[in-house]
Amino acid sequence: MKAIYVLIIQVKNTTSIKVGSLGYLTFHKGMYAYIGSAQSNFRYRIKRHLHKKKKLFWHIDYFLDNKKTKIWKIFFKEGIKTEECNLARLISKKGKIVLKFGSSDCKCKSHLFQIKECQFLEKNLTELIEKHNAF
Ligand SMILES: [Zn+2]
Repeated sequence: MKAIYVLIIQVKNTTSIKVGSLGYLTFHKGMYAYIGSAQSNFRYRIKRHLHKKKKLFWHIDYFLDNKKTKIWKIFFKEGIKTEECNLARLISKKGKIVLKFGSSDCKCKSHLFQIKECQFLEKNLTELIEKHNAF
C-alpha cells in the first residue's frame, strides 16, 4: 500500500536534540506532528518508527531516538508522495514549524510541526489503532 502518514509525537520535557545535519534543536514540551509517506511497505516503515534501536538516518530517527520523545498516535491514508507535501502544508497552518525538518528532498519548509491538538486529522485520515498488537 502506498500511504501517507502522520506521527503524533509527545515530548515529555523541553529538550535539546541533535538532529543530524540540522545540529542541536530545542523541542518544547508538548505535541508534534510529523508527516511522512511510504511508497511501499507501509507497515514496515511504521514498525521502524516504533523501534527505538536502529541506525539513525532520517531527521525523524534522531528525534525519536531521544528518551523524552514517544509516538502517541499514528494517522494514515492511502496516497502518493505529492499528497504528503499537501498534508504538510495543511498542518503547517495549525502548528509551529520546525524549520527544514524532514523536508530535504522537497520544497516544503518542514514536515514537523508543534501542534496543540490533532483532532482535525481525524476528518481526513484513519487512526492506526492496532499498532501495539500488529507490529
Ligand atoms: Zn514536502
